[in-house]
Amino acid sequence: MDNKHIDTIAVRAGQVRTAEGEHSDPMFLTSSYVFASAEEAQARFSGDSPGNIYSRFTNPTVRTFEQRLAAMEGGEVCVATASGMSAIVAFCMGTLQAGDHIVSSRSIFGSTVILFNNIMSKFGIETTYVDLTDLDDWRKAIRPNTKAFFAETPSNPLTQVVDIAALSEISREKGIILAIDNCFCTPSLQKPLTLGADVVIHSATKYLDGQGRCIGGAVVGKKDLVGEGVYSFLRTAGPTMSPFNAWVFLTGLETLGLRMKQHCANAQQVAEWLSEQPNVSKVHFPGLESHPQYDVASRQQSGPGGLLSFEVKGGQEKAFNVINKTEFLSITANLGDTKTTITHPATTTHGRLTDEQKLEAGIAPGLVRVAVGLENVDDIIHDLSLGLS
Ligand SMILES: *Cc1c(COP(=O)(O)O)cnc(C)c1O
Repeated sequence: MDNKHIDTIAVRAGQVRTAEGEHSDPMFLTSSYVFASAEEAQARFSGDSPGNIYSRFTNPTVRTFEQRLAAMEGGEVCVATASGMSAIVAFCMGTLQAGDHIVSSRSIFGSTVILFNNIMSKFGIETTYVDLTDLDDWRKAIRPNTKAFFAETPSNPLTQVVDIAALSEISREKGIILAIDNCFCTPSLQKPLTLGADVVIHSATKYLDGQGRCIGGAVVGKKDLVGEGVYSFLRTAGPTMSPFNAWVFLTGLETLGLRMKQHCANAQQVAEWLSEQPNVSKVHFPGLESHPQYDVASRQQSGPGGLLSFEVKGGQEKAFNVINKTEFLSITANLGDTKTTITHPATTTHGRLTDEQKLEAGIAPGLVRVAVGLENVDDIIHDLSLGLS
């Protein structure tokens, strides 16, 4: 599959047909495996012969998902995990040790901040936060013990974008591992490993599934980092992806390219419509020329993604009105679903920040975030118009 287009890889890569000749990917719901002889068992356990041992770390359905996603990201190895959060934990535990330091972009997933601040800190790993788009800020935050850069691009909910290639030049020069959470773009819109990142992290829960069914995650990268460090952690600690979930994600990957194209097209139309509304003061979306990193986004992403946010004039009261007047949009903080979701970041995902921190992070009281789904775009726009007029 090496020289095939990503859409072909998404449908075909990683499948190993069994003797039954099944066309679709089979689901291996088995916790353990049997061996032909005591000698074979010995060889498997010692690592002398490859093969299945136990589904905490070897399962054919999970392996198919891992190989397909690795091929789609252009990475050597993928380790599938029970959730996006456990992918980040596995990355940290597999590559860092006490005394190491992380530099992370400030606007990242809330649970990732809690993981870095409250849990990794207990094991002597400190984190410094910087402005995603300010490369000088990244450079200045580096200490002699800085081991990892961590970034989400585009960011949530303001859709800021960092130049991954430029950031990787800084990390490479200092021998720092660059990890990109590629949840919002997915490999069908952005391949960080081909731009110089060392590791890609996913919450498969979002667009890879795409229909809001299962929780899962993945770490993709080079053999030495992911195949050894991260895999060793997973094998022993066990935040493993279930074969059932892997099977659901496999079918999700088959339609990822198609879905992302439509998410992007719908979001583009919604963003352009919002830009013309008199009661909207600002629209954050990488597909608008007014976006501060429009050029970088156009260069490193093959589409703007499905996530946007906008500021309603009149603050929280008017923003709540827009959310409450919608007829079918889902009021939830989840994203990456066929169903459009709408949320008020200042009182939900970013509710724990102080007013000052919200101001610094650009989370205005009138800000509304929409993860644009696959319903008809005219219906989505009509739903949003109900509270905006
Ligand atoms: C949802 C999300 C996560 C966490 O993934 P879970 O599957 O919910 O554990 C991590 N990063 C980003 C950007 C996310 O949106």
